[in-house]
Amino acid sequence: MTAVMRIGFIGLGAMGFPMARHLSRQHEVVVWNRTREKAERHSREHGSRLAGDLADAANADVIITMLPTSREVDAIVDKLLPHVKRGTLWIDATSGDPNVSKETAKRLGEKGVGFVDAPVTGATVGAENATLTIMVGGSDADFARAEPILKIMGKTIIHVGPVGAGHAIKVLTNSIMGATVWITSECMLLAKQYGIDLKTALAVTNAGSGRSNASENLLPMRLVDHKWPLIFKLLHHDKDIRIATSIAHEQHASAPMLALTQNLFSAALHELGDQADYIEVAKVIARMNGTAWD
Ligand code: NDP
Repeated sequence: MTAVMRIGFIGLGAMGFPMARHLSRQHEVVVWNRTREKAERHSREHGSRLAGDLADAANADVIITMLPTSREVDAIVDKLLPHVKRGTLWIDATSGDPNVSKETAKRLGEKGVGFVDAPVTGATVGAENATLTIMVGGSDADFARAEPILKIMGKTIIHVGPVGAGHAIKVLTNSIMGATVWITSECMLLAKQYGIDLKTALAVTNAGSGRSNASENLLPMRLVDHKWPLIFKLLHHDKDIRIATSIAHEQHASAPMLALTQNLFSAALHELGDQADYIEVAKVIARMNGTAWD
Protein backbone atom coordinates (compact mmCIF):
# COMPACT_ATOMS: atom_id res chain seq x y z
CA MET A 1 0.00 0.00 0.00
CA THR A 2 1.38 3.38 -1.03
CA ALA A 3 1.16 6.55 1.07
CA VAL A 4 -2.08 8.47 0.63
CA MET A 5 -1.79 10.76 -2.35
CA ARG A 6 -3.90 13.58 -3.64
CA ILE A 7 -5.21 12.60 -7.08
CA GLY A 8 -7.10 14.95 -9.40
CA PHE A 9 -9.38 12.86 -11.64
CA ILE A 10 -10.78 14.56 -14.74
CA GLY A 11 -13.47 12.84 -16.85
CA LEU A 12 -16.09 10.67 -15.15
CA GLY A 13 -17.57 8.95 -18.20
CA ALA A 14 -18.39 5.26 -18.65
CA MET A 15 -14.76 4.37 -17.82
CA GLY A 16 -13.57 7.21 -15.61
CA PHE A 17 -16.43 7.03 -13.11
CA PRO A 18 -15.68 3.48 -11.86
CA MET A 19 -11.89 3.96 -12.19
CA ALA A 20 -12.02 6.98 -9.87
CA ARG A 21 -14.18 4.98 -7.46
CA HIS A 22 -11.40 2.40 -6.91
CA LEU A 23 -8.86 5.15 -6.28
CA SER A 24 -11.15 6.88 -3.77
CA ARG A 25 -10.91 3.85 -1.48
CA GLN A 26 -7.17 4.36 -0.98
CA HIS A 27 -6.36 7.97 -1.87
CA GLU A 28 -7.74 11.47 -1.57
CA VAL A 29 -9.41 11.86 -4.96
CA VAL A 30 -10.62 15.23 -6.22
CA VAL A 31 -13.08 14.79 -9.09
CA TRP A 32 -13.91 17.18 -11.91
CA ASN A 33 -16.31 16.52 -14.75
CA ARG A 34 -17.63 18.77 -17.52
CA THR A 35 -21.18 17.86 -16.50
CA ARG A 36 -20.88 18.72 -12.82
CA GLU A 37 -23.78 16.50 -11.65
CA LYS A 38 -21.69 13.37 -12.36
CA ALA A 39 -18.87 14.64 -10.15
CA GLU A 40 -21.39 15.57 -7.45
CA ARG A 41 -22.81 12.03 -7.61
CA HIS A 42 -19.34 10.51 -7.48
CA SER A 43 -18.41 12.48 -4.41
CA ARG A 44 -21.76 11.69 -2.74
CA GLU A 45 -21.59 7.96 -3.46
CA HIS A 46 -17.89 7.15 -3.40
CA GLY A 47 -16.21 9.48 -0.94
CA SER A 48 -14.25 11.51 -3.48
CA ARG A 49 -14.10 15.29 -3.10
CA LEU A 50 -15.86 17.53 -5.60
CA ALA A 51 -13.37 19.93 -7.20
CA GLY A 52 -14.29 23.55 -6.63
CA ASP A 53 -13.10 24.26 -10.16
CA LEU A 54 -10.80 22.68 -12.73
CA ALA A 55 -7.68 24.25 -11.19
CA ASP A 56 -8.56 22.59 -7.87
CA ALA A 57 -8.10 19.17 -9.54
CA ALA A 58 -4.62 20.24 -10.67
CA ASN A 59 -3.41 20.91 -7.15
CA ALA A 60 -2.40 17.26 -6.77
CA ASP A 61 0.41 14.71 -6.64
CA VAL A 62 -1.14 12.92 -9.60
CA ILE A 63 -3.57 14.16 -12.27
CA ILE A 64 -5.51 11.57 -14.27
CA THR A 65 -7.42 12.39 -17.46
CA MET A 66 -9.99 9.98 -18.97
CA LEU A 67 -11.50 11.89 -21.89
CA PRO A 68 -12.72 10.97 -25.39
CA THR A 69 -9.67 12.05 -27.42
CA SER A 70 -6.34 13.87 -27.15
CA ARG A 71 -8.14 17.00 -28.37
CA GLU A 72 -10.09 17.29 -25.10
CA VAL A 73 -6.98 16.38 -23.09
CA ASP A 74 -5.02 19.10 -24.87
CA ALA A 75 -7.72 21.67 -24.09
CA ILE A 76 -7.55 20.70 -20.40
CA VAL A 77 -3.73 20.90 -20.44
CA ASP A 78 -4.02 24.43 -21.91
CA LYS A 79 -6.27 25.47 -19.03
CA LEU A 80 -4.20 23.78 -16.32
CA LEU A 81 -0.67 24.73 -17.39
CA PRO A 82 -0.70 27.89 -15.23
CA HIS A 83 -1.84 25.86 -12.20
CA VAL A 84 0.17 22.61 -12.28
CA LYS A 85 2.78 22.00 -9.59
CA ARG A 86 6.39 20.96 -10.20
CA GLY A 87 6.73 17.27 -9.29
CA THR A 88 3.15 16.31 -10.23
CA LEU A 89 2.68 13.26 -12.47
CA TRP A 90 0.04 13.45 -15.21
CA ILE A 91 -1.43 10.08 -16.24
CA ASP A 92 -3.50 10.26 -19.42
CA ALA A 93 -5.72 7.16 -19.55
CA THR A 94 -7.56 8.41 -22.65
CA SER A 95 -7.11 6.35 -25.82
CA GLY A 96 -5.26 9.18 -27.46
CA ASP A 97 -2.91 10.16 -30.24
CA PRO A 98 0.79 9.35 -29.67
CA ASN A 99 1.98 12.48 -31.46
CA VAL A 100 -0.19 14.75 -29.35
CA SER A 101 1.02 12.91 -26.22
CA LYS A 102 4.64 13.62 -27.11
CA GLU A 103 3.83 17.35 -27.41
CA THR A 104 1.84 17.27 -24.17
CA ALA A 105 4.72 15.56 -22.36
CA LYS A 106 7.07 18.28 -23.62
CA ARG A 107 4.76 21.11 -22.52
CA LEU A 108 4.25 19.61 -19.07
CA GLY A 109 7.94 18.71 -18.78
CA GLU A 110 8.82 22.40 -19.12
CA LYS A 111 6.77 22.94 -15.95
CA GLY A 112 8.47 20.06 -14.12
CA VAL A 113 5.44 17.78 -14.51
CA GLY A 114 5.96 14.15 -15.58
CA PHE A 115 3.66 12.53 -18.11
CA VAL A 116 2.70 8.98 -19.05
CA ASP A 117 0.13 7.86 -21.58
CA ALA A 118 -1.72 4.95 -19.98
CA PRO A 119 -4.71 3.90 -22.08
CA VAL A 120 -6.72 0.91 -20.96
CA THR A 121 -8.44 -2.12 -22.40
CA GLY A 122 -11.02 -4.39 -20.82
CA ALA A 123 -14.20 -2.37 -21.41
CA THR A 124 -16.55 -0.97 -18.78
CA VAL A 125 -16.70 -4.34 -17.01
CA GLY A 126 -12.93 -4.17 -16.56
CA ALA A 127 -13.23 -0.63 -15.20
CA GLU A 128 -15.99 -1.74 -12.80
CA ASN A 129 -13.98 -4.73 -11.53
CA ALA A 130 -10.52 -3.10 -11.61
CA THR A 131 -9.32 -5.79 -14.01
CA LEU A 132 -8.23 -3.49 -16.84
CA THR A 133 -5.08 -4.06 -18.84
CA ILE A 134 -3.16 -0.79 -18.88
CA MET A 135 -0.40 -0.07 -21.41
CA VAL A 136 1.99 2.66 -20.50
CA GLY A 137 4.27 4.99 -22.47
CA GLY A 138 6.77 7.01 -20.49
CA SER A 139 10.19 7.09 -18.86
CA ASP A 140 11.22 4.33 -16.42
CA ALA A 141 11.04 6.79 -13.55
CA ASP A 142 7.54 8.04 -14.41
CA PHE A 143 6.34 4.47 -14.99
CA ALA A 144 7.62 3.48 -11.53
CA ARG A 145 5.58 6.34 -10.02
CA ALA A 146 2.47 5.54 -12.04
CA GLU A 147 2.43 1.77 -11.55
CA PRO A 148 1.12 1.60 -7.94
CA ILE A 149 -1.75 3.95 -8.87
CA LEU A 150 -2.58 2.02 -12.04
CA LYS A 151 -2.59 -1.27 -10.11
CA ILE A 152 -5.58 -0.02 -8.14
CA MET A 153 -7.60 0.25 -11.37
CA GLY A 154 -6.14 -2.61 -13.41
CA LYS A 155 -4.83 -6.13 -13.22
CA THR A 156 -2.15 -6.15 -15.91
CA ILE A 157 0.09 -3.10 -16.20
CA ILE A 158 2.61 -3.15 -19.05
CA HIS A 159 5.36 -0.60 -19.71
CA VAL A 160 5.42 -0.51 -23.52
CA GLY A 161 8.08 2.13 -24.24
CA PRO A 162 8.60 5.92 -24.22
CA VAL A 163 5.77 8.49 -24.25
CA GLY A 164 3.34 7.72 -27.08
CA ALA A 165 3.98 3.96 -27.11
CA GLY A 166 0.98 3.24 -24.88
CA HIS A 167 -1.37 5.18 -27.14
CA ALA A 168 0.13 3.58 -30.24
CA ILE A 169 -0.33 -0.04 -29.13
CA LYS A 170 -3.80 0.73 -27.77
CA VAL A 171 -5.17 1.91 -31.14
CA LEU A 172 -3.43 -0.93 -32.98
CA THR A 173 -4.90 -3.60 -30.72
CA ASN A 174 -8.35 -1.98 -30.88
CA SER A 175 -8.14 -2.08 -34.66
CA ILE A 176 -7.67 -5.85 -34.47
CA MET A 177 -10.83 -6.02 -32.38
CA GLY A 178 -12.74 -3.86 -34.88
CA ALA A 179 -11.71 -5.97 -37.85
CA THR A 180 -12.62 -9.15 -35.95
CA VAL A 181 -16.05 -7.85 -34.99
CA TRP A 182 -16.71 -6.85 -38.60
CA ILE A 183 -15.62 -10.11 -40.29
CA THR A 184 -17.29 -12.29 -37.67
CA SER A 185 -20.58 -10.39 -38.01
CA GLU A 186 -20.31 -10.58 -41.79
CA CYS A 187 -19.77 -14.37 -41.80
CA MET A 188 -22.40 -15.12 -39.16
CA LEU A 189 -25.03 -13.10 -41.02
CA LEU A 190 -24.00 -14.80 -44.25
CA ALA A 191 -24.48 -18.19 -42.58
CA LYS A 192 -27.96 -17.05 -41.58
CA GLN A 193 -28.68 -15.89 -45.14
CA TYR A 194 -27.60 -19.34 -46.31
CA GLY A 195 -30.20 -20.84 -43.98
CA ILE A 196 -28.06 -21.88 -41.00
CA ASP A 197 -29.42 -21.04 -37.57
CA LEU A 198 -27.35 -18.21 -36.02
CA LYS A 199 -26.92 -20.03 -32.72
CA THR A 200 -25.58 -23.07 -34.58
CA ALA A 201 -23.25 -20.93 -36.69
CA LEU A 202 -21.82 -19.31 -33.55
CA ALA A 203 -21.50 -22.69 -31.79
CA VAL A 204 -19.48 -24.10 -34.69
CA THR A 205 -17.29 -20.97 -34.85
CA ASN A 206 -16.64 -21.11 -31.12
CA ALA A 207 -15.68 -24.78 -31.31
CA GLY A 208 -13.21 -24.09 -34.11
CA SER A 209 -10.46 -21.83 -35.36
CA GLY A 210 -12.71 -18.84 -36.11
CA ARG A 211 -13.25 -18.36 -32.38
CA SER A 212 -12.63 -14.90 -30.85
CA ASN A 213 -13.87 -12.57 -28.15
CA ALA A 214 -16.35 -11.30 -30.76
CA SER A 215 -17.79 -14.75 -31.47
CA GLU A 216 -17.70 -15.96 -27.86
CA ASN A 217 -18.83 -12.91 -25.93
CA LEU A 218 -19.80 -9.89 -27.98
CA LEU A 219 -21.99 -11.20 -30.79
CA PRO A 220 -24.17 -13.94 -29.16
CA MET A 221 -25.74 -11.35 -26.83
CA ARG A 222 -26.58 -9.06 -29.76
CA LEU A 223 -27.37 -11.42 -32.65
CA VAL A 224 -29.07 -14.20 -30.67
CA ASP A 225 -30.40 -12.51 -27.52
CA HIS A 226 -31.17 -9.18 -29.24
CA LYS A 227 -29.56 -7.14 -26.48
CA TRP A 228 -27.60 -4.11 -27.71
CA PRO A 229 -26.10 -2.39 -24.67
CA LEU A 230 -23.96 0.72 -25.14
CA ILE A 231 -20.55 -0.42 -23.90
CA PHE A 232 -18.08 1.40 -26.11
CA LYS A 233 -19.12 4.17 -28.45
CA LEU A 234 -18.57 3.54 -32.15
CA LEU A 235 -17.47 7.19 -32.20
CA HIS A 236 -14.49 6.32 -29.94
CA HIS A 237 -13.73 3.10 -31.79
CA ASP A 238 -13.66 4.94 -35.13
CA LYS A 239 -11.28 7.49 -33.58
CA ASP A 240 -8.92 4.71 -32.46
CA ILE A 241 -8.82 3.10 -35.91
CA ARG A 242 -8.21 6.48 -37.56
CA ILE A 243 -5.24 7.09 -35.25
CA ALA A 244 -3.93 3.61 -36.13
CA THR A 245 -4.11 4.44 -39.85
CA SER A 246 -2.26 7.69 -39.20
CA ILE A 247 0.55 5.63 -37.62
CA ALA A 248 0.67 3.52 -40.79
CA HIS A 249 0.92 6.69 -42.92
CA GLU A 250 3.64 8.09 -40.72
CA GLN A 251 5.66 4.87 -40.98
CA HIS A 252 5.11 4.73 -44.79
CA ALA A 253 3.65 1.30 -44.06
CA SER A 254 1.35 -0.76 -46.23
CA ALA A 255 -1.62 -1.70 -44.04
CA PRO A 256 -4.53 -2.46 -46.38
CA MET A 257 -6.65 -4.35 -43.84
CA LEU A 258 -6.35 -1.46 -41.44
CA ALA A 259 -7.35 1.01 -44.16
CA LEU A 260 -10.38 -1.10 -45.08
CA THR A 261 -11.42 -1.43 -41.43
CA GLN A 262 -11.15 2.34 -41.00
CA ASN A 263 -13.28 2.92 -44.12
CA LEU A 264 -15.95 0.48 -42.93
CA PHE A 265 -16.11 1.84 -39.39
CA SER A 266 -16.23 5.47 -40.51
CA ALA A 267 -19.06 4.63 -42.94
CA ALA A 268 -20.90 2.80 -40.13
CA LEU A 269 -20.47 5.83 -37.87
CA HIS A 270 -22.18 8.06 -40.44
CA GLU A 271 -24.97 5.52 -40.72
CA LEU A 272 -25.48 4.86 -36.98
CA GLY A 273 -24.57 8.17 -35.36
CA ASP A 274 -22.52 9.33 -32.37
CA GLN A 275 -24.40 7.44 -29.68
CA ALA A 276 -24.23 3.95 -31.23
CA ASP A 277 -22.26 1.10 -29.67
CA TYR A 278 -19.48 -0.27 -31.88
CA ILE A 279 -21.01 -3.76 -32.14
CA GLU A 280 -23.98 -2.14 -33.92
CA VAL A 281 -21.84 -2.28 -37.07
CA ALA A 282 -23.49 -5.72 -37.41
CA LYS A 283 -26.79 -3.91 -38.08
CA VAL A 284 -25.16 -2.02 -40.95
CA ILE A 285 -23.82 -5.27 -42.40
CA ALA A 286 -27.32 -6.79 -42.19
CA ARG A 287 -28.81 -3.74 -43.94
CA MET A 288 -26.12 -3.89 -46.65
CA ASN A 289 -27.46 -7.36 -47.46
CA GLY A 290 -31.15 -6.66 -47.09
CA THR A 291 -31.36 -8.98 -44.09
CA ALA A 292 -32.28 -8.39 -40.47
CA TRP A 293 -30.25 -9.51 -37.48
CA ASP A 294 -33.21 -11.15 -35.73
P1 NDP B 1 -17.63 8.63 -22.32
O1 NDP B 1 -18.16 9.26 -23.55
O2 NDP B 1 -18.51 7.74 -21.52
O3 NDP B 1 -17.06 9.77 -21.33
C1 NDP B 1 -16.31 10.82 -21.81
C2 NDP B 1 -15.90 11.74 -20.66
O4 NDP B 1 -15.20 12.86 -21.20
C3 NDP B 1 -17.08 12.32 -19.88
O5 NDP B 1 -16.69 12.52 -18.55
C4 NDP B 1 -17.30 13.65 -20.59
O6 NDP B 1 -17.94 14.62 -19.78
C5 NDP B 1 -15.88 14.06 -20.84
N1 NDP B 1 -15.80 15.05 -21.92
C6 NDP B 1 -16.23 14.92 -23.20
N2 NDP B 1 -15.94 16.03 -23.91
C7 NDP B 1 -15.31 16.87 -23.05
C8 NDP B 1 -14.77 18.17 -23.18
N3 NDP B 1 -14.81 18.84 -24.35
N4 NDP B 1 -14.21 18.75 -22.10
C9 NDP B 1 -14.16 18.09 -20.92
N5 NDP B 1 -14.66 16.87 -20.72
C10 NDP B 1 -15.23 16.25 -21.78
O7 NDP B 1 -16.30 7.86 -22.78
P2 NDP B 1 -15.64 6.55 -22.18
O8 NDP B 1 -15.49 6.68 -20.71
O9 NDP B 1 -16.30 5.35 -22.75
O10 NDP B 1 -14.21 6.62 -22.89
C11 NDP B 1 -13.17 7.46 -22.40
C12 NDP B 1 -11.88 7.04 -23.12
O11 NDP B 1 -11.61 5.67 -22.81
C13 NDP B 1 -11.94 7.13 -24.64
O12 NDP B 1 -10.70 7.56 -25.13
C14 NDP B 1 -12.23 5.70 -25.07
O13 NDP B 1 -11.74 5.44 -26.38
C15 NDP B 1 -11.47 4.92 -24.01
N6 NDP B 1 -11.95 3.57 -23.73
C16 NDP B 1 -13.27 3.29 -23.58
C17 NDP B 1 -13.68 1.98 -23.33
C18 NDP B 1 -15.13 1.62 -23.18
O14 NDP B 1 -15.43 0.40 -23.20
N7 NDP B 1 -16.03 2.57 -23.00
C19 NDP B 1 -12.72 0.88 -23.19
C20 NDP B 1 -11.35 1.30 -23.28
C21 NDP B 1 -10.99 2.59 -23.55
P3 NDP B 1 -19.55 14.75 -19.73
O15 NDP B 1 -19.96 13.85 -18.60
O16 NDP B 1 -19.78 16.18 -19.49
O17 NDP B 1 -20.08 14.29 -21.07
